[in-house]
Amino acid sequence: MSSADHDPPLAPGLYLVATPIGNLEDITLRALRVLRSADRIACEDTRQTQKLLNHFGISTPTVSYHLHNEGLRAEELLAQLQQGARIAVVSDAGTPGIADPGHELVNAAIGAGVTIYPIPGANAAINALIASGLSTEHFTFHGFLPAKEGQRRTALEQLPRDRATHLFYEAPHRILGTLADVEAIFGATQPVAIARELTKLHEEFLRGPVGELRAQLAARPSIRGEIVLLFSPAEEDAAAPTRSIAAEVAALMKTESLSEKDALKRVARDRGIGKSEAYRELQRERARG
Ligand code: SAM
Repeated sequence: MSSADHDPPLAPGLYLVATPIGNLEDITLRALRVLRSADRIACEDTRQTQKLLNHFGISTPTVSYHLHNEGLRAEELLAQLQQGARIAVVSDAGTPGIADPGHELVNAAIGAGVTIYPIPGANAAINALIASGLSTEHFTFHGFLPAKEGQRRTALEQLPRDRATHLFYEAPHRILGTLADVEAIFGATQPVAIARELTKLHEEFLRGPVGELRAQLAARPSIRGEIVLLFSPAEEDAAAPTRSIAAEVAALMKTESLSEKDALKRVARDRGIGKSEAYRELQRERARG
């Protein structure tokens, strides 16, 4: 007799099951029971989840459900749910639907009157937050920043300075660039926290001024692992320029009859930034209208 035979039957519905983000002990008893008793497990990557299932001796059939087949697979799974199936959804690691597939199926299931059961467990953002030392009273989760440098800068510049802690998932090969942007926008003394490899053997928290942490990481031969970056942007500095670059350029063109190019050069020099950075900021201001 397998342990599935001892488990009470699972009610029909969609089960969103959190799985470990590194340490296999972080699976809950309830998650194991649901995974054992479900009719099917929809997985972001069936091979990845199979390792977890093998470890816990679970033989429930799996089906792939990822970013690229989310829409199509959601329809198929929904049809089964409407016939009373018990379907579990897992991502490769952590909580499904958080920077991972899941949301689309949840929405469709709600629309079809299917019962949804969240099965709580590991999540990188929340665990980084509670150990970061930063305020947990108000926080905003942003998922991944845009990969393109200009878009990433704009996203960071537009962060509200509302005393909330802002959380980002970040890739190891992008962390230095992102920290450089945080430093340029919020100043080298902006406090940040970096949570790396949570729950794993080499779990690490770095806490301190962004300038120092960037230098510390840059000095390493390589930066590996999974990362959560957190910070709470300081209130606007009263001494910081409040006028837009566009307004300063326009004023110089008018009062000193400078060409736009020369005016921009002057503004860049006055602000202590490079010409191309000033130009990019001007373009962004214009795009924002
Ligand atoms: N759904 C997952 C969750 O609940 O946290 C997140 C999935 S997202 C595709 C993967 C990103 O989460 C990684 O690139 C990293 O930024 C963050 N992450 C996942 N596991 C982590 C860990 N053990 N330590 C630090 N960050 C982690």
